[in-house]
Amino acid sequence: MEEQSLNLVKQSFKEFYFKHSDYVETPLRIEEREFGYMQFDNGMVRHLSFKDKGELNVHLVKYIPSDVYCSCAYYINPTAPIQEKIFKGADLIFDIDADELSLTCMKEHEVWICNNCGNVMTLKQNCTKCESVKIEKVSLACDNCIDAAKKEVKKLVSLLHEDLGIQEKEIKIYFSGNHGFHLHVYSKELEQLEAPSRADIADYVAGNNLIPEAVGIRRNSKSVREVISRFPTIDDIGWRGRIARVLMKDNKERPRIVKRILKNGYSQFKEELNRIARESGAHIDPKVTMDIHRVFRLQGTINSKSGLAKVPCNNIDDFDPFTSACVLAEDQVNVHVRYSPKFRLRENSFGPFKEQTIRLPTYAAVYLICKGLATAV
Ligand SMILES: [Zn+2]
Ligand SMILES: [Zn+2]
Repeated sequence: MEEQSLNLVKQSFKEFYFKHSDYVETPLRIEEREFGYMQFDNGMVRHLSFKDKGELNVHLVKYIPSDVYCSCAYYINPTAPIQEKIFKGADLIFDIDADELSLTCMKEHEVWICNNCGNVMTLKQNCTKCESVKIEKVSLACDNCIDAAKKEVKKLVSLLHEDLGIQEKEIKIYFSGNHGFHLHVYSKELEQLEAPSRADIADYVAGNNLIPEAVGIRRNSKSVREVISRFPTIDDIGWRGRIARVLMKDNKERPRIVKRILKNGYSQFKEELNRIARESGAHIDPKVTMDIHRVFRLQGTINSKSGLAKVPCNNIDDFDPFTSACVLAEDQVNVHVRYSPKFRLRENSFGPFKEQTIRLPTYAAVYLICKGLATAV
């Protein structure tokens, strides 16, 4: 980022941390957490610890990080090197990103930026100005992206609650500050899980490894009556019931469904199961859930990929990230926009823009600068 843009972004972040420190959440058992932050021009700092919220806030205003992270784990010595921290437990976390959902709206709002000269292109190709191959995808999430990500969140909550018995009050949902959502599970019981058990949970909620045998279909199954004795009903719990509910509305349909499955054969049913898993499972990033030593974006801090904040969503249906997470100042500033698809922040619609110098509210200007689409002038 060139200097003038960097100053504008830093100034706006500083003002936020100075005026709105109430947004920044104090994580549970703050003194047992490791903190880390990314600096605008100088890489990552890790292995920090804060006694309380006051100490954390002072640090944020003093150093103005581009991104702030906190461990999902609780440690005896949070500031020690990883091997000496002594793990006490960790929250269970999930990451859902609209960018990973293969949505058809993506092509309307994704652009490619040359890391060498800043050229913005609407197609993925080598830079048309300097021929560099170092290009990076940037996306400005739309309402459709957010709705799709919300749907994943709701599936995940249902799987965690109904299948795994996690209470809804133990689950906190946050907008990630860019294209997705983070789920934090605070449970004394699950806190002790090691990485492999967390990987199992990630597989379970994604519906990975579902096999026909799980609903009583074997490679050599021939007898309808025999399969029906093992076939699930729509009232079953877990994936068996979820699969049954996709296949039929009423348990009376079981003989008809089983006959159809046997007629089409094992392999075809396996494919059908994969489809059911994709539609009924939650699309999460399993690496995030498995990693017990990860430092994860802190609730209430700003995401430097967008200038939006990670904020709680108490009611997922009504939640609008483009309003609730848009926390920077309103004063107008001048920016040169190389290219931008149409986007919405608060109640305002902006763009599309192409090679234009315009006056925008700080929050919209910083959004475009953080996306790499504009520079301060
Ligand atoms: Zn270039
Ligand atoms: Zn979209």
